[in-house]
Amino acid sequence: MYDVAIIGSGPAGISAAINLKVLGKNFIWLSNGEVSKKLTQAERVKNYPGLPDVTGGELAWTFRNHTDVMNIKLCEEVITGVYDTGDKFTLLAGEREYEARAVILCTGVEAGKPIEGEDEFVGRGISYCATCDGQLYKDKTIAVLCTDKKFEHEVEFLAELSKRCYVMPMYRGYEIKSPKAEIILKNPVKFSGGMRLNTVAFKDGSVEVDGVFILKGSFSPSTLVHGLRTQNGHIEVSRDCSTNIAGIFAAGDCTGRPYQYAKSVGEGNVAAHSAVEYLAKTKHNV
Ligand SMILES: Cc1cc2nc3c(=O)[nH]c(=O)nc-3n(C[C@H](O)[C@H](O)[C@H](O)COP(=O)(O)OP(=O)(O)OC[C@H]3O[C@@H](n4cnc5c(N)ncnc54)[C@H](O)[C@@H]3O)c2cc1C
Repeated sequence: MYDVAIIGSGPAGISAAINLKVLGKNFIWLSNGEVSKKLTQAERVKNYPGLPDVTGGELAWTFRNHTDVMNIKLCEEVITGVYDTGDKFTLLAGEREYEARAVILCTGVEAGKPIEGEDEFVGRGISYCATCDGQLYKDKTIAVLCTDKKFEHEVEFLAELSKRCYVMPMYRGYEIKSPKAEIILKNPVKFSGGMRLNTVAFKDGSVEVDGVFILKGSFSPSTLVHGLRTQNGHIEVSRDCSTNIAGIFAAGDCTGRPYQYAKSVGEGNVAAHSAVEYLAKTKHNV
């Protein structure tokens, strides 16, 4: 059991991790990649104090060098759900679980909106985790939406256990090896059904399925944490970065505009201090 779990390896998560380390907390830092792509993608950064003109890659290196020097380890995981389990939170990562007294969400903003019907059918035909839910669809017809090459082994696993498997790779240069994978080069526009999902619709047609797997590395905040209050896709926070759920804090782009490194770093700092205050107040200062 950790005091705090941080999700995200962008500037907000990095800042939260550095501050929790300084404050001497027992925490786990989880993210789906070594460093946020939004750091490395920036061609030139000219508005970060102290570094007048750097590439995103250089800024990323500077940040991660800081965590390395402080011996802060990142645990590479895609978190598919955060559940309030009484006096603690359980974070699901495939078949693994992590427990913490408080959570800091530093998950950034998702590019693109969820597909129509996605939120409605989560747990009723839509799954985000091949290893957790794959066996439920043994010998059934499924569709798999794969957003990144790194999930291809999960696609192959699902294709092998299914009766029929439609695969929609959302990137170029896919190399899905299972002969059972039926590739559809179209974007799904809607998921529909009754009590359970049964149809994936495209602009020009549809397929009937028993279930859909969406393999991606990040989720909308309300999909990730049931009951989390959001507005226009951003997590509602108070000035201390607390959310409507006691013990869950949020920092960075996920709390709203402006989308900026310095704002994310600042909020990561605030969220870390607020999480520590919360632990002290609730006598969880383990
Ligand atoms: C091309 C480009 C150039 C930019 N240039 C500038 C600039 O010059 N100056 C400036 O101030 N800002 C700039 N920005 C904006 C800046 O990148 C963002 O504001 C900043 O990265 C936000 O930091 P963050 O930590 O809140 O989120 P992010 O950097 O988006 O990090 C979120 C992290 O959470 C991880 N994550 C999300 N969900 C999960 C999950 N479920 N499980 C595990 N991990 C998860 C992601 O993989 C990622 O590591 C630029 C952005 C882009 C795209």
